[in-house]
Amino acid sequence: MSSLEERRAKALEEYRKKLIEHRELDAKLKKMREDLKEFSKDFEKSEDDLKSLQSGVGQIVGEVLRQLTEDKFIVKASNGPRYVVGCRRMIDKSKLKQGSRVALDMTTLTIMRQLPREVDPLVFNMSMEDPGDVSYSSVGGLPEQIRELREVIELPLLNPELFGRVGITPPKGCLLYGAPGTGKTLLARAVSKQLDANFLKVVSSAIVDKYIGESARLIREMFAYAKDHQPCIIFMDEIDAIGGRRFSEGTSADREIQRTLMELLNQMDGFDKLGQVKMIMATNRPDVLDPALLRPGRLDRKIEIPLPNEQARLDILKIHAAPITKHGDIDYEAVVKLSEDFNGADLRNVCTEAGMFAIRAEREYVISEDFMKAVRKVGDTKKLESKLDYKQI
Ligand code: ADP
Repeated sequence: MSSLEERRAKALEEYRKKLIEHRELDAKLKKMREDLKEFSKDFEKSEDDLKSLQSGVGQIVGEVLRQLTEDKFIVKASNGPRYVVGCRRMIDKSKLKQGSRVALDMTTLTIMRQLPREVDPLVFNMSMEDPGDVSYSSVGGLPEQIRELREVIELPLLNPELFGRVGITPPKGCLLYGAPGTGKTLLARAVSKQLDANFLKVVSSAIVDKYIGESARLIREMFAYAKDHQPCIIFMDEIDAIGGRRFSEGTSADREIQRTLMELLNQMDGFDKLGQVKMIMATNRPDVLDPALLRPGRLDRKIEIPLPNEQARLDILKIHAAPITKHGDIDYEAVVKLSEDFNGADLRNVCTEAGMFAIRAEREYVISEDFMKAVRKVGDTKKLESKLDYKQI
């Protein structure tokens, strides 16, 4: 055999070997694919089983307190006790932070899945409000108060570095106090609108009335929600319902309120981490507030919203009369003279009533006389109301 033929035969041999190898590999691959299919099916089946197990058998809701090791956690079950538990492999453990809500298996207490944060309908639906079309110009007679409020709320949000440079911690919020209907809510709305911030309005008494046993949790959720929706202004009206000074801790309702206040203080103290969340609280009973609430670093500033004086009443009246169709000169000064002790809400009522008089007289515009009649009517109603109040006492 010539050497050429020899080489050819060798190459052929080699080629054959490779071909066989290739075929073998191909067969292996095919088998593996089939195996994979089987495995996927198995996996899906066990996932399904697990799911039906999960849906069929109840699970315990818990809260992660701390991660112990790579796959062990300390969890507080919602019924009270704490456990050291394991975690299902599928779960992304980096997402399990302190305070995460999880579902625990009934018997093994293994963390089965992470639950979405519980957002209460009160926080979620009812309170997240559009501040509406309010601006500082729709607030009458409170220029000094507006300036102070802007300083504590706007400045830290818009120029936080200013505070850092001077070396002071930016204010976390402020307290607006004064009689009802003087524009506290209106002011809070105006700030939110100006900052294009979300406006979370909470009536404090509703929290303790409606959510007995849960109000501390609700406060936690509220802050968490605000944090998720930065920049956000939390407006807590009637704060005295939670933050009132307590002389006894007698009843369970008292203890509930105490717990709620504690949680509120706690959340406010942890504020640095909250970033662009600011608090505005309002009350007409500043005298009964627990001093703990007003300590520096919590509500740093207290702003009094007084009943409007004559000039302020004129401003407010003009603001509310502006969109009304009028005829002839309106003697606002005369109207204001008759509105001693009126608050902003009463003055808005005067404008509505004036409009009603016009409608009753089948006119499409309001005249000065309508305003005069309206202010007398609102005055009379107020007198009647105060008499009723007196009798109730
Ligand atoms: P508070 O929160 O102090 O009880 P609100 O802000 O809810 O009072 O006031 C109720 C309504 O009265 C407001 O929506 C607004 O129409 C009117 N009002 C009150 N104060 C003023 C004011 N200073 N300027 C203009 N409108 C006012």
